[in-house]
Amino acid sequence: MPAARVLIDGPSELVFDYAIPEGMDAVTGCRVKVPLRNKSSTGTILDITETMPTKFTLREIDALIDPEPLITPKLMELGKWIADYYVAPMEQVMRSLLPEAVRQESHSEKTRKLVCIDQKPDDETLEKLGKRAPRQHLILALLDAAGGQMALADLGGGSVAASVKSLAKNNYVKVIEEAVRRDPDEGEEFLEDKPLKLNPGQEVAMKEVLQQISEPEKPLLLHGVTGSGKTEVYLQAAQHCIDSGKSVLVLLPEISLTPQTVQRFKSRFASIQDQVAVLHSHLSQGERFDEWHRIRSGKARVVIGARSAIFAPLTNIGIIIVDEEHENSYKQETSPRYHGRDLAVLRGHLEKCAVLLGSATPSLESFHNTQTGKYKLLTLEERADDKSLPIIRVIDMRVEGRKHKGAPNILSDPLRGHMEKKLAEGEQVILFLNRRGFARSLQCGSCGHVCECRHCALPLTYHRQEERLICHICGHQAITPKKCPECGDPGIRFQGYGTEQVEGILKKVFPLARLARIDADSMRRKNALKDTLRAFHQRKIDIIIGTQMIAKGLHFPNVTLVGVLNADLGLHVPDFRAGERTFQLLTQVAGRAGRGEMEGEVIVQTYTPHSPSIQYARHHDFPGYAEQELDFREQFGYPPYTHCAVLGTRSGHERRAEFTLQNLHKRLATDLPAGMKLGDALPSPLTKAHGQYRFQMMILGSSARGLSRHVRAVLDQTPAPEDVTVVFDMDAMGF
Ligand code: ADP
Ligand code: ZN
Repeated sequence: MPAARVLIDGPSELVFDYAIPEGMDAVTGCRVKVPLRNKSSTGTILDITETMPTKFTLREIDALIDPEPLITPKLMELGKWIADYYVAPMEQVMRSLLPEAVRQESHSEKTRKLVCIDQKPDDETLEKLGKRAPRQHLILALLDAAGGQMALADLGGGSVAASVKSLAKNNYVKVIEEAVRRDPDEGEEFLEDKPLKLNPGQEVAMKEVLQQISEPEKPLLLHGVTGSGKTEVYLQAAQHCIDSGKSVLVLLPEISLTPQTVQRFKSRFASIQDQVAVLHSHLSQGERFDEWHRIRSGKARVVIGARSAIFAPLTNIGIIIVDEEHENSYKQETSPRYHGRDLAVLRGHLEKCAVLLGSATPSLESFHNTQTGKYKLLTLEERADDKSLPIIRVIDMRVEGRKHKGAPNILSDPLRGHMEKKLAEGEQVILFLNRRGFARSLQCGSCGHVCECRHCALPLTYHRQEERLICHICGHQAITPKKCPECGDPGIRFQGYGTEQVEGILKKVFPLARLARIDADSMRRKNALKDTLRAFHQRKIDIIIGTQMIAKGLHFPNVTLVGVLNADLGLHVPDFRAGERTFQLLTQVAGRAGRGEMEGEVIVQTYTPHSPSIQYARHHDFPGYAEQELDFREQFGYPPYTHCAVLGTRSGHERRAEFTLQNLHKRLATDLPAGMKLGDALPSPLTKAHGQYRFQMMILGSSARGLSRHVRAVLDQTPAPEDVTVVFDMDAMGF
C-alpha cells in the first residue's frame, strides 16, 4: 500500500507516515492536511513509499491543500537524482528543495487592505454626504485624487475604519486584500549602469555563450584572470536572456563575501529592479517566503544566490551562471551533500538551457571536462582594464631560518623591509595566514622536507595517541622521526603559529601601525567584518592580518603589498587537492594587490619554494599548473580521473564508531565492483568533534554511479547501532 511520508509544519519538524486515501492524487511535494494526535495539522509530502502490512493501520491524509505540488517537475527530477547520486534520503532532499519558510503555513503572504472606489455616488448624494458625514466625504475625495484607490493604512488605518465600513456598506467603496512584498532591499536605490563595449576576447566568448543560449549543447567554462572582464560577459549574457523573455540564475560562492558582484548585477538591472531576487542567508523567513513565491510565479526572472539558490523555482531558464566555480563553498556539508556547480550542470541539462562556469583558477574537474570535450573552454587572456598582474616574489624560509637561528621565523627580512617602505609611503598591506585543517604534518625547518606516504604521495598525519605517523588515505603507518630523514637536522617539527601570534609580533615590530585581525575568532560580532573592511577602505587601518576570509573578491585600491606568511600551511595536508587549493589561494590573494593606480607586489614565504603550486602561481600560469597536477592525479588514480567519496561514522562511544565503520568496510569489500578501491577505516583527521568520535574511510571509484549504488546497497543492509551516525560524502571536497 502506498503511504506518504509527511513533514509536519512546526518547529519540531516531525515526520510521520500516512495512508493515501483511495482516489487522492497525492504526489511528493504536495501540501496536505493530516490528523495529528487529536488535532488537525498541516505538512508537506516528502516521499511516497510502499509500506509493508503491519498490525498498525496508518491514519489517512485528510485532504490536499493545493492539488499541485510546490515544486516544478524539473526540480523534482533534480531532487530524485540528488537522492540517488549522493545516497541521501528523499526527505532530506525535499527539505533542501523547499526551504522551511516556504513549507510552513505560518510564513504566509503579508497582505494589506486596499480601499478602492466602487460605485461613485452622484453629485447630489455627495453633497449630502459632505454635510452628514464629512469624514466619509473626505475619504472619497482623497481616493479620487489618488486615482481611485489607496491603502487603508495611508488613509488613517484604524481611525477611519468605521467610515470606510459605512462607505462600503453603500457600495461606494470596496476593500480588498492585496499581497505586499517584504523587500529585503527596501529603500536601496540602484543607478543603472550601461553595458560596456566588449573587447575582442570578450566578443569571442560572448558569441559562444549566445550560441549556447539559443541551442544548448554543452556547458561552457570561462577561464579568465582576475579583472579580465568575466563579470561583464555574465551581465550581457543575462541581459540577452531577459530581453528574449527567459530567466537567469546566477550562483555566487558566498553572498556576504561577494557584495561587489551582487551590486553590479543589481545596477545593471536597475530598470527591472522588481524582477531581480537575491537569495542570501540573512533574509527573514517572511522575506524568504516572498522571494520564493516571486520566483515561482515568474515575477522575478533574475535570481542571484549562493549554493542553495540552485533550487530556485524558476521556469523557462535561459542561462545558469556559476561564478568562481572552483570554490569549495559550493559543496554542502550536511546531507544532502550536493555540489552546487555540479547541480548547475545537471539542472542546465534538465532545463535545456546554457550553463556558464567562470573562474580565474578553474577546478581541475571542470578543466578536465574541457579536455575530454564534455565542456567547452573559453579563455580571456588579458585584463580588461590595462592594469598589469602583480609581481610575485617567493622567499625561501629555509634560508631565512638559517640567518636568524633560534628566532621565530615568521616575518622574513624582505617582507619586513617592504612593509616598512609601504607603511612609510602611506600605502596598505594585507598579510595572509591560512590555518585550516586539524591534521598536522611534520616538516623540517632546515630543508623543508615533509614526511609523506610512499603509496599515496600525500603527507602523513601525526597521531599523538599512537605516537605514529599515519596515512589517511591508505592507512600506511610510520615511526615519527626524531630528526629529518632527508638532511638529518633535529629541527623537524609540526607547523605551528596562527594569526593571533602574528598579531602580537606585528605589534612589536610595527608599534605605530594600525592593525586589524580578521579570522573566525575575531569576527564573531555581527557586522564586525563589514565594519573592519570599511575602516580599511577609509584607510583607518594600515595592516590587515587575516585568513582566507579576505582572499575573495575584495577590491582595495590602496593595497600595494600582499604577504603570504606560510604558503606551506595549506600545502602539506593529507588531501590530494592541497596543491590545487594552494595554487588557487595564491592566485586569488595576488589578485588583491594592485587593484588601483599603483602597482602591486606579492611576497610569498615558503619552505618549499619549488613546489609546483607555488611556482606556477608565481608565473600566473594556470594551464601549466593544470597539466602537471593532472599528471599526478592520473598517476595515483585521484579525481578527476576517479570519483572520491568518504564514508564516516560518528558516535559518543569511540569503540562503537570504530567497529561500525570496520563492519561497513568488511561488507563493502565483499563483491567490490571492478574499478573501486577502499581505503582503511581510520580515525578522522578531526578525531573528535562535539563530543563525537569520528572515523572514516576513503572510497575511490572509476564510475560514480557504480560507487553510489554499491555503497547504498551495503548501507541499506547494514543498519547502524542507534548511537552511531553514518555519514556518506560523495565527491568529498575535504577530509
Ligand atoms: P572579472 O569578472 O574577470 O574579474 P570584471 O568584469 O570585473 O572582470 O572586469 C574588470 C574591470 O574591467 C572592471 O572594472 C570592468 O568594469 C572593466 N571592464 C570589463 N570589461 C570591459 C570592457 N569591455 N571595456 C572596458 N572595461 C571593461
Ligand atoms: Zn598512503
